[in-house]
Amino acid sequence: MAKQKQKINKRLIVVSNRLPVVIDKENDQWRIQPGSGGLVTALNPILKENESLWIGWPGTGKEAPIQELLDQFGSEQGYKLVGVPLNQQEIERYYWGFSNGTLWPLLHDLLGYCKFDLEDWQTYVAVNKKFAEAITKQTRENDIIWIHDYQLSMVGHFLKKLGVQLPLAYFHHIPFPSLDLLRRLPWKMEYTKALLAFDLLGFQTLRDRRNFVSTVTNLIPEASILRRQRNYTLVKYKKRIIQVGHFPISIDFNEFNNAAHSQEVQDAAWYLHENLHERQLILGIDRLDYTKGIPERFLAYELALEKYPELKQKISLLQVVVPSRTLDPDYQNLKEQLDQIVGRINSRFGNAGWIPIHYVFRSLDNTQLVAHYRTSEIALITPLRDGMNLVAKEYCACSVENNGVLILSEFAGAADQLGEKALLVNPYDIEKTADTIYRAFTMPLEERQQRMQWLRNQVQKNDVHRWLRYFVRTLDKVNSTTDFSPK
Ligand code: UDP
Repeated sequence: MAKQKQKINKRLIVVSNRLPVVIDKENDQWRIQPGSGGLVTALNPILKENESLWIGWPGTGKEAPIQELLDQFGSEQGYKLVGVPLNQQEIERYYWGFSNGTLWPLLHDLLGYCKFDLEDWQTYVAVNKKFAEAITKQTRENDIIWIHDYQLSMVGHFLKKLGVQLPLAYFHHIPFPSLDLLRRLPWKMEYTKALLAFDLLGFQTLRDRRNFVSTVTNLIPEASILRRQRNYTLVKYKKRIIQVGHFPISIDFNEFNNAAHSQEVQDAAWYLHENLHERQLILGIDRLDYTKGIPERFLAYELALEKYPELKQKISLLQVVVPSRTLDPDYQNLKEQLDQIVGRINSRFGNAGWIPIHYVFRSLDNTQLVAHYRTSEIALITPLRDGMNLVAKEYCACSVENNGVLILSEFAGAADQLGEKALLVNPYDIEKTADTIYRAFTMPLEERQQRMQWLRNQVQKNDVHRWLRYFVRTLDKVNSTTDFSPK
């Protein structure tokens, strides 16, 4: 597909925890390759169309010739990369500690996993300051600065403190919780006030935006609501005006849809189903993460087999778990738990000709991923909480025969756009999720087609290019309000 051009007449500085590259060694030679993932795909056209740079941690230590590799990437890709090096202690405490051990579970409503550690917090603050310092070395008049995600929530605060007067935008990719949850954070005031240093704050859903606005107005007496519109709220804080909006991120619909039509994918999809005979396939694809609700999903599937014996032999759950954060004990425990439940369900119900759960612990290449989406009659996507969940949208884009049923957690951001025609479930409600699996299995073709057609239209219309245009247009109009006076 021809990517839509997006000229902004300003230099764009994108900042994220990780640079969008993979640096590794092959045959004793260092190499640098573009990373994968939605954000890189979404931003690529705008980065190439405008003079741009991306600032972030390169993901490797001092052993690699980082600068040389980043320069090489810049000349190949058409935008510049600037590395922010992190030492071991910073990686431990800022990344594994506060970002992944405190903010990640807290912002996903999973308080039980939260660790609150003063040194982690202090390192998080220091690394956010370090990023701000790295940015100020690059900035010049007329730039716009776009910071991404929860690891860097305080960068705007330090940029303003360092005197940067450019418009500052932030996009929060994960959920924002209710005040009742956020108030557990011992540093809630510093964290929340720091977010108000941005001029434009983007969240995934209306609920996230409302949670943020109500947190701010309840915690910070000097902050008030100036105006509330359908798409944004204006917050006034110390003579500054901050625009808070919601911008649900999406996928490149055409890319997935075209891939699903390719011969290679059709062949791979055919083999996948051929091996599983006359069965309906239920698909689960997730990173290994306790937010994804995988054990609960297995229990719902087990209950469905128990309650509806006609499902036996006629249905198989194909669960792909992509290894992630495998150094973290919580993730190691989850992996063990999954192995155990799968073993139990397969030995309880399976027989020589039928395996109830096909469980794969690895990542898929692109052809296999799209083939899985295309061939599965049902997708079972049941996170306990998720900022958006792109897998749900990718499944719709690849369901080119229009016969897939999407079962989706009401706590995924994607439910806001897809909830009307997906079968929504509360992933904690094992009984109803089991009933919904049965409902999907028995859904007549006509209803499946009517629902999937609607879902596909929805994802096609609201694709990632539209998301980007909308965010950048909003950002382009936002002015920096410079009379920020940090406490
Ligand atoms: N994905 C992948 N390889 C795989 C399985 C999935 O690259 O083997 C991708 C998938 O296409 C999707 C992303 O991983 O774009 C997962 O995004 P999502 O928003 O669903 O969850 P996250 O992992 O960001 O929490």
